[in-house]
Amino acid sequence: MNEESTSLAWSVNEKVSTYDWIVIGGGITGATLAYELVKQGLNVLLLEKNTSPDNATRYSYGGLAYWSGTSPLTRQLCEEGITIHRQLSAELDTDTEFRELDLILTVSPEDNPATLAQNYQSFAIPPTILTPEEACQKEPLLNPNALSGALLLPHGQMNPYKTNQGYLAAFQRLGGTVAFEPGVRLQQQAEKIVGVQTPTTHYSAAHTVVCAGGLTRQLLRENGMTAPVYFTHAEVIETVPTGLKLHSVIMPAALQRFSLEANSTQPDKQPLWEEANQEILPPILDPGAVQMQDGSFRLGQWSRVLSSPDAMIDPQTSETQIRQRVGAILPTVAQLPGRWRHCLVAFSPETWHSVGPVDNREGLYLFSGFSNPLVFTPALARHFATCATGQEDPILEQISDL
Ligand SMILES: Cc1cc2nc3c(=O)[nH]c(=O)nc-3n(C[C@H](O)[C@H](O)[C@H](O)COP(=O)(O)OP(=O)(O)OC[C@H]3O[C@@H](n4cnc5c(N)ncnc54)[C@H](O)[C@@H]3O)c2cc1C
Repeated sequence: MNEESTSLAWSVNEKVSTYDWIVIGGGITGATLAYELVKQGLNVLLLEKNTSPDNATRYSYGGLAYWSGTSPLTRQLCEEGITIHRQLSAELDTDTEFRELDLILTVSPEDNPATLAQNYQSFAIPPTILTPEEACQKEPLLNPNALSGALLLPHGQMNPYKTNQGYLAAFQRLGGTVAFEPGVRLQQQAEKIVGVQTPTTHYSAAHTVVCAGGLTRQLLRENGMTAPVYFTHAEVIETVPTGLKLHSVIMPAALQRFSLEANSTQPDKQPLWEEANQEILPPILDPGAVQMQDGSFRLGQWSRVLSSPDAMIDPQTSETQIRQRVGAILPTVAQLPGRWRHCLVAFSPETWHSVGPVDNREGLYLFSGFSNPLVFTPALARHFATCATGQEDPILEQISDL
């Protein structure tokens, strides 16, 4: 069965009633949070606008960068997150395709591996420097002529789509409700959000949490609110399954995406976010590749900062450039037949501002846009749900006044 047809397993529940929590968005953050809330015995509704997932989770690499904590808080969340992922298949009764594997960060001939390794020294696990020969021994598909070396880190990977579906199924088994609603409006009484209105239904709840990924900003704006959550347009090529075998996750050591995000939210750029069809900064391409366990590859990745979620992008030019850049590093992989895919990815310059109350509205919360989401989300959702039942949670207390 293909991914699109298994998504029909999401059930539609038309019963209208009052909930403790409404979760808006059924990607990995919404599904994980909804599951953790229902596990705490709360009555939870998850609202998703698409019956077939076409979101960041669907096209994600699924990488679990548990080595990347830089503070006691983020190190603890990484540790808790990877511990959850290691047993998540059993907990959800779904094969999440979790595996431990190497992350190889390629260093191009014009860069120096030792210099780039300095940028990684503050992480919980610093990288090992590899020569081109050592990198190619670990990953024979790499082109040694395209490297001055590489950085090696221990990494995890899961199938984000299957994990997402596993969370949704487990949520429903525990009594949670999923409803597909293409349009939602937040219902406000005085300064309090009291639920969600759709063209046909009123869903009321004491608490509503927005997990709408790259559409979070637009959803809040349509409801007259703001929060420091932004988005990039991401593009990858998804190839057909193949017999070629990639043993590691391949990314560039000089990753440009994080500085693109940081620069795009500087004060001088803020007015551009308020206008339609603005290119806030020129796009960047971080050439990399991952393989999923069905043998398909994801090759990428473009990141574009365009102010409109529905901005037009030329798929053909984009695909050609991805193939050229990935082809320099992984020549055989870049030739595989595949389809160009596009989605929005949420980010926040102030990571922890994207977890907690929104815009001083009672009853409205945000859980979207934090960095390193796939390793953090299971742990953060658990802490959020603990707080939601009124229990003390030392981690959430450091992050937000939920
Ligand atoms: C190519 C690529 C590679 C990546 N690799 C990694 C990686 O290796 N490691 C990592 O940690 N992260 C990675 N990421 C980032 C990570 O995958 C995403 O940040 C994460 O999956 C986002 O999950 P989400 O639930 O917040 O958003 P999404 O998956 O986008 O889900 C949001 C959901 O909200 C729904 N929605 C939106 N608006 C509404 C509304 N008004 N009403 C109802 N529903 C609504 C959408 O339909 C969507 O289903 C990658 C992302 C991409 C694109």
